[in-house]
Order: sequence, then structure tokens, then C-alpha cells
Amino acid sequence: MAVIAVVGANWGDEGKGKITDYLANEADFVVRYQGGNNAGHTIINEFGKFALHLLPSGVFYPKVVNVLGPGVAVNITGFLAEVDKLIAQGVPKPDLRISERAQALLPHHILFDALEEERLGKESFGSTRSGIAPFYADKYLKIGLQMNELFDEPLMRARLSKAIIQKNVLLQQLYGKPPLSVDEIVAHVAALRDRLAPYVSDTTTLLLDAVEAGKTILLEGQLGTLRDPDHGIYPYPTSSSPLAGFGAVGAGIPPWAIRRVVAVTKAYSSCVGAGPFVTELQGSEAEELRRRGGSAGEYGATTGRPRRVGWFDCVASCYGCRVQGATEAAITNLDVLAYKDAIPVCTAYSIGGTATTIFPVSRLLDKAEPVYAELAGWKTDITGVRRFQDLPAQARDYVLFIEKHIRTRITWVSVGPRREQIIKR
Ligand code: GDP
Repeated sequence: MAVIAVVGANWGDEGKGKITDYLANEADFVVRYQGGNNAGHTIINEFGKFALHLLPSGVFYPKVVNVLGPGVAVNITGFLAEVDKLIAQGVPKPDLRISERAQALLPHHILFDALEEERLGKESFGSTRSGIAPFYADKYLKIGLQMNELFDEPLMRARLSKAIIQKNVLLQQLYGKPPLSVDEIVAHVAALRDRLAPYVSDTTTLLLDAVEAGKTILLEGQLGTLRDPDHGIYPYPTSSSPLAGFGAVGAGIPPWAIRRVVAVTKAYSSCVGAGPFVTELQGSEAEELRRRGGSAGEYGATTGRPRRVGWFDCVASCYGCRVQGATEAAITNLDVLAYKDAIPVCTAYSIGGTATTIFPVSRLLDKAEPVYAELAGWKTDITGVRRFQDLPAQARDYVLFIEKHIRTRITWVSVGPRREQIIKR
């Protein structure tokens, strides 16, 4: 029996998609347990290059059952479009299941997300405008719709008629927009119902049985620790918990079943969205790292927005790994740093003149200055290296230095975006 959670130690975009795709080869199930199609996982394999948004990263393996658990925000149009696109790109039709208890993200959630970001202007949260915050707000206000309920039109109509009263006050009075129509929402769902039906089922029993039968299950986190609503950088988190601990809840499996937690971190930092970012670079230094980063530069897989970039932050990443409960870590994008003579790594924050290695609350994070150590660069292409001992000494030292500071053993070192460009330690 093995349930392995693959989660982000930072702001997201750490390369979890690549690590999940690599591990999915051995898995029976790959499960998304939170978030929606607001972030992207980039995967490069024998079928080509993909940016998965809502689909679990096991969709490339015909033997893997891919599950969207009850904790996921299911954009029903987005889901079907992503499946169509995958098949159009030559991938065999994957085995995909959506929990009947997961809730549907509908067009009005996206509308409210965009209107609120526009209203906030310069004060906006940097939302991807995918409707995630309004969706989770509705869920906890108990006015959302579960996937099973989309198949009961009278129930759906009654629930929407209640929810829409409050929404239309906001739309008309606050945003100056025309009101929503229940008929339109019902028609939108009715048009997709037959296509959705084959995917919707009781995934909770499926996964509980799989745990009992000793199957291998990968839980795939979206974003990272620093975007957790409780433990992250408030008020800039996402609206569901990206922690491995929430994996049990959002997937519907026993907490004791999660035996391994792989925290993914990048060899430098990147961040999409607003909020404090202590090691952030500006100007030409930032542009160079952004251009060289990832598989096609550091630009959002969902939005195409330039990502904010900076040097590796041991304070944030150590916190990120510990709060995830990481049993091991994977470091990605090590190859990207080959251009540097010397590489700064942030080992502490200076806040009001006092140095600390403890990740502080947002109010103090705003005042934190990075304290850097300079590590020697290796100035060699390492994308072809497959054994740790074959890396240049400086690259090994860089990984070992980070391993010590994040207090988590690094078991994988990724040296390129492709599936096979990985070193297992
Ligand atoms: P995720 O959401 O955590 O899966 O991360 P993203 O896919 O948004 O961002 C990671 C970026 O890094 C993508 O462009 C990947 O193709 C790329 N990537 C992953 N691992 C490596 C690596 O080891 N080296 C390089 N150069 N790119 C990588």
C-alpha cells in the first residue's frame, strides 16, 4: 500500500506536474484533491508538450485511473475542453472519474472573480480570474451545486433561484451589470449533462477500496504551502488548502494512508500573483532568470503572465517542506542555473535588524530583507546527467546546501523539463 502526496513547497509552479508524471508510471490512481483549472502543470513526454489545468497528471498512462476528488472545483466546460484537447493531441482516451460530491464551477463564478479584481484595481489579488474564490465562497455559504445535483434539474433550479437573489444584488448594485438568469445557468448545464454523465461517480468508495487493496495512489497538489489559506501568505492565498494534510479530506482517503509526502521545490524561486516575495529580483537580473527558467521561460501556464522570480529562499522553503510534512523533497530546474558564476541563496531574513530563519507572518514578511550566502556556480550543461555523482561538484554542493537548510532529504534532482531528465538519489 502506498499513498504518496506530491505537493509544492513554495508558491506553486515548482514542477509538480513533471514529478507526478514521472511517478505516475508506478501508480494505479492519480488524484487531484483541491483547486481547479486556475493553475497549470507543464508536462513534456512522448506525446508532446501539455499544460494540464484540471486533469490529473496521470492522464498519459492508460492503466492509471485519474480522479477529481470532492475537494476540487470542477469547471465543467473547462474539464470537457481539456479532455477534447488531450485527445486531439493524440493521447489515448484516459480513464477519468469526477467525484459525485465535487462541486461544479459555473460561468457566474468566473464573472464574479473578474468583476471583483477589476473593482479592486491596483489592490487586486492577482487572481487568475478562473472563478476559484467565488466558487469556494459559495461552497462554504452552502449555495454551491455538487456534481450529482447537476442531474436533478428541479433541485438545481430551486437551489440556484435562492442563491441568485444575493448575487443579483451585487451584480446590479455593486458592479453595475445585468442580473443573472436561472434559466440561462440551467440551460448551460443541460447542454453539457450527457457529456459529463460518464465521468461522474462515487470516487470515495473507489479510493477507500483502493487503499484497502494496497493500490498505489498519487495525490497531486496544486500551488504550494505559501498559498495555503491558513499557513500561507494571507491575504494572498488560494481558496483551498494545497497541503498534503488536506489531501486526505479533498480526495476522501484516511489520513493514516498517506505514507510519503514529496515536497517539490525549484532551484530558484518563482511566484505568480501578488504578495510579499523576499528574494524577488528586478530589472535585467530578473529578466535573465525568467527567460532561462522552466521549459519556455517563467510565464504562467494558465495565464501566460510573466512570473516574478528570485533566488532560492531557504527560510520559505524549509517552512514549506515542514508544514507539508515532507518525508522527502524533489528539486527541479537545477539546469537553469548553469549560467551563473556564483549563486546567491537566502539563508535567513533580517527583520528590523534581527536575523531569523523562522518564516514570519505576512505583516513582518513585508519588512523582511534577505540574508544571502554565495555558492559557486558550475557553468556546465547538466541536462544529460543521470547520476548524482556525475554532477559537477558545485552542483552537488548546491543541492546538499539546500537539503541541509530545508531540513528535508532531497531524493530527486530534475535537470530538464523532459520526463527522463531526472536523477534519483
Ligand atoms: P507545476 O504547476 O508545479 O507543475 O509547475 P509548472 O509546470 O507551472 O512550472 C514548472 C516549469 O518548469 C514548466 O515550464 C516545466 O516544464 C519546467 N520544468 C520542470 N522541471 C524542470 C527542470 O528540471 N528543468 C527545466 N529547465 N524545466 C523544468
